[in-house]
Amino acid sequence: MKSKAAVLYEIHEPLRVVNLEMDDPKEGEVRVRIGAAGICLSDHHIMEGTGSTLRPVVLGHEGAGTVEEVGLGVSSVKVGDRCILSFVTNCGHCSTCRSGSPQLCLTNRLTGGRQFDGTTRLTDGEGQSVFQLSKIGVFSERSVVPARACYPVVGDVPMDVLALIGCCVTTGVGAVINNPFMRPGATIAVFGAGGVGTNVVQGARLMNAAKVIAVDLNQEKLDFVKRFGATDLVNASEVDPVAAVKELSGGGVDFAFEVFGSGQTVAQCVEVLRPNGVAVVVGLAPEADRSSLEVTTLVRNQKILMGSYYGSASPHETFARILDFYQRGLIDVQGQITRRYPLEQVNEAYDDLIAGKPGRGVLIPNG
Ligand SMILES: [Zn+2]
Ligand SMILES: [Zn+2]
Repeated sequence: MKSKAAVLYEIHEPLRVVNLEMDDPKEGEVRVRIGAAGICLSDHHIMEGTGSTLRPVVLGHEGAGTVEEVGLGVSSVKVGDRCILSFVTNCGHCSTCRSGSPQLCLTNRLTGGRQFDGTTRLTDGEGQSVFQLSKIGVFSERSVVPARACYPVVGDVPMDVLALIGCCVTTGVGAVINNPFMRPGATIAVFGAGGVGTNVVQGARLMNAAKVIAVDLNQEKLDFVKRFGATDLVNASEVDPVAAVKELSGGGVDFAFEVFGSGQTVAQCVEVLRPNGVAVVVGLAPEADRSSLEVTTLVRNQKILMGSYYGSASPHETFARILDFYQRGLIDVQGQITRRYPLEQVNEAYDDLIAGKPGRGVLIPNG
């Protein structure tokens, strides 16, 4: 079978939309027709060489689709199921899977853009093997993925909503609601008002946060997240964000979420905490980035600095909770989607993201 897909051949080059030859799903795998794919910044890190993966690779890790064919031994999904695709598939038997953190699966990391058996399912016109980002590579009409990546959804939730739950909603809302120190009524700062930041703000609202202070350099993005529950806005291109957050919170916040993705904002998140406060790093900085912290403040104020990946818990479990929130109208996903593109316009979609347009862009590969 053929599939048209957006492939990264070289860093700093535009993605090429090409026809690939696609193998049938092997044991434990399924073929999915992609319904929608989100334009997330993590793919851009890979395009720029500040995030690493094997190439050539079909990008796209935020997606949803419909199962078209199942391989041998698949019982968790069937043909016709509409699924959220997880960008971390867990093996179920490595030490992190066994200890209850499937979102950190070590086998998934080792195999990367290959399937679990170490091989690929895609070949380009030159006969070269093509990898799939996070085993799913959803910037494609179709994709062969591990069945364990698929979370089947009952009901008629739109595909673009399911796609966003595959990354930015789960990463943002999950970082808040699954945080072991979280409690209702806290004061919360969010550094970064992009796709994930919007959902940290929504998570904070779900926890009845007393204050949700959004910080960004872009006023348009700040105005956008106000709709999702930010109570105060700090434009860091105009004022010192640390001083502003401290003033708005009466001396410091209980929680600061770093979603911007830089060492400097990590340090700022630690600085704005009140004693016993918790800084949670959610954003992926360029891999070479480092942070410089005032160490004694951690000790004298018993501050906590921690990371959160893919919502801090089992992605499938967080999907289930988020779908409940969505169906009860407690979170807004549709309102986050501000732009739609066909697969051929994937490079324009990234230009718009980098230009700072607020809200999420979505690719419709079979549109
Ligand atoms: Zn993402
Ligand atoms: Zn594992």
